[in-house]
Amino acid sequence: MKNFKYFIKKSAIFEVVKFNSMKKLIVLTLFHILFLFPVYCQEKIKISEDIELIKLTANTFLSVSYGDISGYGRVASNELIFTNNKEAILFNTPIKDSLTKTLVTWLNDKMGLKVTAFVANHWHDDCIGGLNYLHGRNIKSYANKVTIDIARAKGKAVPQNGFSDSLKLMLDDKEILCYYLGAAHSTDNIVVWIPSEKLLFPGCMCKSIDSQNLGNTADGDLKEYPKTIDRVISKFPSAEIVIPGHGAWGGKELLLHTKSLANK
Ligand SMILES: [Zn+2]
Ligand SMILES: [Zn+2]
Repeated sequence: MKNFKYFIKKSAIFEVVKFNSMKKLIVLTLFHILFLFPVYCQEKIKISEDIELIKLTANTFLSVSYGDISGYGRVASNELIFTNNKEAILFNTPIKDSLTKTLVTWLNDKMGLKVTAFVANHWHDDCIGGLNYLHGRNIKSYANKVTIDIARAKGKAVPQNGFSDSLKLMLDDKEILCYYLGAAHSTDNIVVWIPSEKLLFPGCMCKSIDSQNLGNTADGDLKEYPKTIDRVISKFPSAEIVIPGHGAWGGKELLLHTKSLANK
């Protein structure tokens, strides 16, 4: 009888363990289908050892560049390219001139795309590290006025044209809207909205779905962070593609995930 009782207890525990790991497996599988499936399906073009290009929509490409960021080692960063009628606008540069040269010349030589303008997300090197190269090619640059002030104070390359709250650019007949919605990852970080593609590029203030913390906030504002993310969430209800500064792109769930990290 005692043995029988023990057997029951043991098998019950076994069942619980089995149930828990089954649940975990189902949750993980759902996670992969929902969030990572688009990542697996995307078409990747390897430009060099350090840069790959991913086609997101008919007119947009994500460039993923790898470079050493001091204190973090080799880091992958996201840049966005929006094209229309063989012209292109670049949003963020890879972290240095040489990588930016590789990207821009490849777009020009292999895809026949002429990069005519550039918009910086904020003043860090993973946004403006290749700006000198762009200026050398006579590519017009735009940024938040605060980004310009900080870049100048830090002795970095300085974007040419500043804006305060918002900026509207046209690429032929298509609109690009840039907004400053408050401090988060940095005090000057902006978001870029391309209505025709339903694409939002909040950059480094937005974390990828597998991020477990907000990352580098040394130049940011943790008090404002959740409020700024809330403004971003409510301003772009029709966003379908959301691109973080680093890691896999997704949808609006990235903003909700970032909000929960910012509220921790
Ligand atoms: Zn940054
Ligand atoms: Zn970053």
